[in-house]
Amino acid sequence: MGLPAILFGGGSSVEEARTLAHNALDMWFDQVASIFENGQQPTISELSRRFGETRGDLMGAVMQAMVEKTYHHLLHQEHAPCPWCGQVLKRKRSDRKKLSTLHGEFSLDRPYFFCLTCKRGFHPLDEALGIAPERHQYDIQEKAAKAASVMPFEESAEQFSSMTGVEIGDHFQHDTLNAVGEVATLELVIPDREEIERRIDEVAKATGSKPVLVVGADGAHMPTRPKAERNKKRGPGQWKEAKGFRIYLVGEDGRTIQIASWHQIQDAEAFRADLALVAERIPQDRVRIALLADGAEWLWPSMVACFPTGRQILDFYHCAEHVHGTAKEQFVEGTLKAQQWAEAVLSLLSLSEMDDVLSILRKMSPRSPDAAEKIRKLIGYLEKNRERIHYETDREDGYPIGSGGIESSHKFVCHTRMKRSGAWWVKESGNSMLRIRCAVANGTYERVFERYAAQSRQPFLRLVDK
Ligand SMILES: [Zn+2]
Repeated sequence: MGLPAILFGGGSSVEEARTLAHNALDMWFDQVASIFENGQQPTISELSRRFGETRGDLMGAVMQAMVEKTYHHLLHQEHAPCPWCGQVLKRKRSDRKKLSTLHGEFSLDRPYFFCLTCKRGFHPLDEALGIAPERHQYDIQEKAAKAASVMPFEESAEQFSSMTGVEIGDHFQHDTLNAVGEVATLELVIPDREEIERRIDEVAKATGSKPVLVVGADGAHMPTRPKAERNKKRGPGQWKEAKGFRIYLVGEDGRTIQIASWHQIQDAEAFRADLALVAERIPQDRVRIALLADGAEWLWPSMVACFPTGRQILDFYHCAEHVHGTAKEQFVEGTLKAQQWAEAVLSLLSLSEMDDVLSILRKMSPRSPDAAEKIRKLIGYLEKNRERIHYETDREDGYPIGSGGIESSHKFVCHTRMKRSGAWWVKESGNSMLRIRCAVANGTYERVFERYAAQSRQPFLRLVDK
């Protein structure tokens, strides 16, 4: 199978590239062949190691040959029009750049032009070839930033290097992730309307009914610290709340189909603005909406304003936590009595027998002042959220009663990467990290990365020193 001639814009250069590639292969083979010297019979593992060590030399050389043949005209360009004023410029010099890709390294000498009128310089080849300003090209950056969103920087840099053979450091991981995170706006991280509609249609088809769309909101405490200032001691760490939401569809057999996760260290007002933007992308008349959350004050008004037809459901599991907490205080923790009491109250709650529950609570004689306080708080909590407790009909109508989905989103998006021991986040970089983790969860990471790559090459012809 030959290489497509079009790639090189002509038949003869294909053959030239092929010759160069064959030469590279010969050189590589000689390099590897020593493993067979003196009748040695290497194992697969030994072969694999040797291939891994030398693969980059071969593939880098082949890639270079292809690039040199394809971009022959730009590599030897003598004159170029200034992209700003149109004046034809003469090449000023050639700049060597080392490019590192997932498949090896090579260098290119790129002609450089400088316009005296516009006082700006440029390398035409960089734009044509989509060269990243950094040494490590975008193929590496895309995977490196994603890996860093899963594991601590140092660990992920090490893993990445050992698996790809490309040496990257933790600073590179850190800088790339932050740079990608900076362009990861809510608009990009949330799937667009067509994609959301497609997911809704799919669930409607599979279940044969109007799908239930769950909007869950929650807060999680993040360890943060102030930005370090020059010549100043860093201030003490602080716990700040990451406020976020997860929107998903209840699919066949109760499966969860992701629509969007979004978590940021931010205040309630910013949370509301973010939720409103996402609400606009959802065709609300085509789903049955469940608003599911705990009793936190800051989230309900926003959820109701953004999804006015949503059914408000107090998360049953949060409710159960309160009840168990009260049981522990009133009876001795771990006793059968505590267990039985909590279960009795919860089964009444799940049947929406609110009057019975409240009358039980009011008639209790507290064992201690702490128990009295717990009971008082539980009564207040249930009364405040009374309109949100209707678990029996919720279940009959196919709505979830527990926000397991949002809880797991919080655990997955926020806790697993952010709450590592000793990890303290500056708000900005913590939010960058959260945005990337959300993009990965929402299936929009590639789109975010593309935007980053396009912007990092901007302006097309970067300002370069003369
Ligand atoms: Zn010019």
